[in-house]
This record gives sequence, structure tokens and C-alpha cells, in this order.
Amino acid sequence: MTITLEREHGLRQPTDEQFGLECPYCGVYAHMSPQSVPDVAALYKDRPKHIGLVYQCDACHAPIFLRFTVKNYAESSIELFQNFIELERPKERFPFSYLPKHTEVLFREALSCYSSNNFNAFASMCRRAANSSFSALGESGKLRAFDEVLAAQEIAEIDDNSFEPIKKVLFDSGEKEGLPTLNRAQAGVLLEVLKDMFYQCFVRRSRLKRAIKVRRFFVRESNDSLKSSA
Ligand SMILES: [Zn+2]
Repeated sequence: MTITLEREHGLRQPTDEQFGLECPYCGVYAHMSPQSVPDVAALYKDRPKHIGLVYQCDACHAPIFLRFTVKNYAESSIELFQNFIELERPKERFPFSYLPKHTEVLFREALSCYSSNNFNAFASMCRRAANSSFSALGESGKLRAFDEVLAAQEIAEIDDNSFEPIKKVLFDSGEKEGLPTLNRAQAGVLLEVLKDMFYQCFVRRSRLKRAIKVRRFFVRESNDSLKSSA
């Protein structure tokens, strides 16, 4: 999407291109409409390198702040680079209450790093959260978690080379083992793999146990009421 600010007409963006984003407030992938646009005459006067635009989420009407870098101040219009920074990113969700308390604290911070685009801080926190979960899982916990991660690799059909940094972050926790540097795409894979690992090791188990307990309870209740009515 190429956005320009024209001296005469203000904001111009191609009308045939729908501009959508995942809204950090309502979580819906929604169409965004311009809500607040800078004064073009003032921009020509100060010529800032970055400018801010506020869009409105069509689903919940919340304001979404975006920062753009100026590509060029031309005679009659200001052209902006297509890449922009979302000042508030959507929060990553997870059923945190199923995790051991210490793991939950670390994983919440990991997700907050991810939402702020700090992907290597995110990787470091993932390692800490994973280590904390291995201790909570007990003796063979790390091995079990490793099997879950290999299963996730297979399901997602990720080749060994691309998957190596993800495994290093999660399982190479010796003092001499450094952390690989991750880019946005690798951090995204790490996020999904670790969520899946926690899901398999903690969430699934607790939910299933609780669901079966509830079923048994109702079977017992109905048996008791049959006996008493007999
Ligand atoms: Zn919204």
C-alpha cells in the first residue's frame, strides 16, 4: 500500500486496496480507516523523517497508531515508505492458568517481548520459560517435551536446518551454549512451537483430567438417584 500526503488534498491511499490489520484491542483482523492525519503544511515546514497516522478499527472503532518513515518530500506530495511500525501490537494469548506459576511469569514476559518486536529478548525468555517447565515436569520432563517439539516439527513439515535454531533455544541450556540470533520469521515459529509444547505438556493433560472427572461425577450422581428411586 503506497500512501502519500498531498499538499492540496491531504491523505491519499489507493482506494482499490483494502487496508487491514489485526486490531490490538478487539483481536479482529479488520479494515482500518484513517481517523487522524497530520497537517501537511506543518510537515512541509518541519520536514520530519517519521510521521504518525491514526487509523480507526472498523470492528471496534478503537484508534490504532502507526508510524511511517518519509520516503520523499516532493514538490506537491510527501511519499511514505510502505513499512510502518504498529505502536501497539496485538497481545499474544495463552491459557496461562494451566502453567506452573514460575513458568507462567516467564512465559508472559516472553510474549510481551514478542508483541514489542524484541525477538531475541523473546528467545532468551523462551529458554528460561522452557527450563522452568522442565523442572516442573520432573525427571523425564525435558525428554517428553523434546518429543512433543519433534512431533510439532513433523506436523508443520519444517526441515531440520530451519528447525535447528528453535531446538537450540529451547533445549541447549548448558552454560557454554549461546543463543542463536533469531529473525522475525524464526521467532514466529518458536512462538508457535513453544505454545504447542506447553499445550501438550500442561493444558491438554489438565483439561482432559478435569473433563473426565466431571463425566464420572455425573455418572455417579445418576446412579445414586436411580438407586434411591428404586
Ligand atoms: Zn478493533
